[in-house]
Amino acid sequence: MKAAELTIQELRKAYQSSDLSPSEAIRSIAESIDEVDSDIGGYLSYDLDQALADAEKADLSLPLGGVPIAIKDLINVNGHPCGCASKLLTGAYTAPYDATIIRKLREAGAIPFGRTNMDEFAMGSTNQNSGIKPCVNPHDKSRVPGGSSGGSAAVVAANTAVAAIGTDTGGSIRQPAGLCGIVGLKPSYGRVSRYGLTAFASSLDQAGPMTKTVADSALLLEAMAGSCELDSTCLDRPVGSYTKALENTDLSGVKVGIPKEYFAFGLDPAIESEVRAGISRLEAAGAELVEVEMPHTEYAVATYYVLATAEASGNLARFDGVRYGNRAESEDLLGVYTKSRAQGFGSEVKRRILLGTYVLSSGYYDAYYHRAQKVRTLIRQDFEKAFEKVDVLASPVNPLPAFKVGENSDDPVANYLADIYTISANLAGVCGISVPCGATEVEGSSLPVGLQLVGPAFGEKELLRIAHAFETSV
Ligand code: GLN
Repeated sequence: MKAAELTIQELRKAYQSSDLSPSEAIRSIAESIDEVDSDIGGYLSYDLDQALADAEKADLSLPLGGVPIAIKDLINVNGHPCGCASKLLTGAYTAPYDATIIRKLREAGAIPFGRTNMDEFAMGSTNQNSGIKPCVNPHDKSRVPGGSSGGSAAVVAANTAVAAIGTDTGGSIRQPAGLCGIVGLKPSYGRVSRYGLTAFASSLDQAGPMTKTVADSALLLEAMAGSCELDSTCLDRPVGSYTKALENTDLSGVKVGIPKEYFAFGLDPAIESEVRAGISRLEAAGAELVEVEMPHTEYAVATYYVLATAEASGNLARFDGVRYGNRAESEDLLGVYTKSRAQGFGSEVKRRILLGTYVLSSGYYDAYYHRAQKVRTLIRQDFEKAFEKVDVLASPVNPLPAFKVGENSDDPVANYLADIYTISANLAGVCGISVPCGATEVEGSSLPVGLQLVGPAFGEKELLRIAHAFETSV
């Protein structure tokens, strides 16, 4: 039995019936990685001995007892490298503590196993900005897996992991999940602790599960969610019994909003028809479809790239070659800072630091940063108004199928526009999930299409229930 081909639920059953032990599962996953990952590039490293030592102590009575989970390379796991797929940190920084989500996953019995590839410091939507090595889409290796959690999506899709954790600042869980044909959940802002995540844009970042099924996503969220005294933005709201909520797959009485702005110009017609067919399945399961308006959607990409870069320019100031990371030689201190940063950061990260510093500079603060904050409020109000009428919103995740490797690599704006359907949920702080919804044929490859469902802040229970009903309605 190849453990990495299983879902979390299947792996747990295999443990319970003694068909497999956690150590056997981990060895089997390591074999799968060695067999196929060199062509995919989903992993940056893994520590077999450490995972086997954890497996020896696994408590199978816990909800995730002995379940190995692949972790995006920006999440601190005590004793593991945490390089953010950057030249600046890789080889020079080992995490000295567990992020809160890792502590919680361990308390539920999980074993962190493997560091997944990503766009450097989570900036990108193709994984082509990894400072270490490229990662490709397991469905067509000439195409990108999406990003920035491209490695986490690819290892789940390629069956070299049972499940993975990613982070989503503007779509980085949902977008690669959609392009790789897996389930990706971005929790509401404040549902999950950010302590121990390398910050990109602190008012937008959330970590979440990337899994083969919605049921696995519910299991992981239940373990990860909840308040954290080390992150004051993580709210003390009760964690729902997400797995229990899945039992009811009847959607009668559920109102699904269809935002017309999410089916507008620029959407690939083949994706549109798959997503519309998916929405009909929700209707067949009892849901009522309601057209809604989200009039500020067109400003979301611009708003995000002002706010996210502003926050990133501050957050990345700590990487100076002194406190963290690889240090460049220079005669004076300023030279150490500037050379370490010039050598350590890739071009997309530099572009964003420059942009972020510019929009925060005294002459431009009101024109850009302050105005973007106001537009963010309007975008949040679009969601609030929509959720007065409907329970969830349904839309595509991606306007286009996965890009070819190298396509748009010198056109950052084309990449930014690919985030059009995912970014607003981060600006509004609401939760969203990407669920596989058919495929489209492109040049002889069958490429996955994702359906995005978005729910109100802290509406994960109902969101997961509806997503599960959709997934099992096939
Ligand atoms: N693609 C978006 C960006 O490049 C989102 C990244 C993310 O969610 N981390 O900023």
